[in-house]
Amino acid sequence: KRVGNCPPDSEELGRATWTFLHTTAAYYPERPTPTQRANMLSLIRAIPLLYPCSHCADDFGQDVKEHAPDVSGRAGLSRWLCERHNEVNKKLGKDTFDCARTDERWKDGPSDGSCD
Ligand code: FAD
Repeated sequence: KRVGNCPPDSEELGRATWTFLHTTAAYYPERPTPTQRANMLSLIRAIPLLYPCSHCADDFGQDVKEHAPDVSGRAGLSRWLCERHNEVNKKLGKDTFDCARTDERWKDGPSDGSCD
């Protein structure tokens, strides 16, 4: 089994990237300033140009073209991102994730306090 000091493969890179993106969305402001919105749009639009898995980047870029990013606030952004991740899950034959549970997964943890 590969361990941490090997270069990341596309699966490890994917998990790390989704962790970054979902966590960033979970803590994005409820009412972002125009500058915060513009920065979030830049971050999202940079992924298809820079993500170092070219077919992943191309498909994501196509999906973002068809579904304009919702940078209006953290609830909308979290949902938009969940839906985009579900598109990738479907493509890879994985289960889709219930987008009502993004805060539980990425911000609050389960109500049983097991993440506290
Ligand atoms: P991941 O899909 O990495 O998910 C990590 C965790 O996120 C899950 O354990 C779950 O708890 C949670 N989660 C799952 N779905 C959602 C959701 N919809 N919303 C919120 N949380 C969720 N791999 C390819 O082989 N081909 C591709 O074309 C491809 N495109 C990608 C495009 C992007 C932009 C990114 C960031 C990654 C892409 N990947 C692609 C990688 C792929 O999505 C997975 O990250 C990788 O296969 C590892 O999967 P995993 O099962 O560990 O969980």
